[in-house]
Amino acid sequence: MRIILFGPPGCGKGTQGDLISKKYGFPKISTGDLLRHEVQEGTPLGKKAEVRMAKGELVNDEIVIKMIKKRIAQPEYKKGYILDGFPRNVIQAQMLEEVSQEQAEAVIEIYLNDQTAKNRLGARRICSCCGAIYNLFVKMPDKEETCVTCGEKLNLREDDKPEVIKERLKVYYEQTESLIDYYKRKRIYYRVDGEGTIETVFRNICSILDEKIANSREVKFAQ
Ligand code: AMP
Repeated sequence: MRIILFGPPGCGKGTQGDLISKKYGFPKISTGDLLRHEVQEGTPLGKKAEVRMAKGELVNDEIVIKMIKKRIAQPEYKKGYILDGFPRNVIQAQMLEEVSQEQAEAVIEIYLNDQTAKNRLGARRICSCCGAIYNLFVKMPDKEETCVTCGEKLNLREDDKPEVIKERLKVYYEQTESLIDYYKRKRIYYRVDGEGTIETVFRNICSILDEKIANSREVKFAQ
């Protein structure tokens, strides 16, 4: 099954993507994580992406589609995958269909109001070494501001600073929100409320996916 997760920054795509991956066994691909890795490694691609990411702007479409194409061509993605943060606009959505040659089965928007997004992102901390994510409200290690796994310092992500959050939300409404109509027309669009607890949001996503899986089994059985 191919699942696309999208929603405003802070809606919990990454967290929910990990939970879906664990339960259903499809690997997750996060373009944000892939780009941050390139930046950290100081690769030519990372250098190109870094400036735009720090400003909260989208990275060039060609760069991200190239990364996605390389990933989904690998054998472990044959049975399906979860896309977190891709596509971010209609051009990327069209490019995805071209490279995967198939349509996703479920596109799930996790919606959230702007104030909650700002509060959540401002409270997010990331481990400078292993990339583990913490939140001042939900999950913090006992020893303030150090990672439980590797003991390294936790930082506020460059793009979680208030002025960059503002730009990321603007980019979301100007470019990514258009995916709603795009996928509604394809009849694969679903929407869940991202305001609830991690468990509630996950339960709602699972209901959608379980129904999709049951329906596809019925269709196969009838054939
Ligand atoms: P995320 O971790 O998904 O919030 O992404 C962090 C940043 O990476 C975004 O603000 C963009 O600058 C960049 N990025 C991630 N995914 C994409 C994408 N599909 N297209 C363009 N830029 C992206």
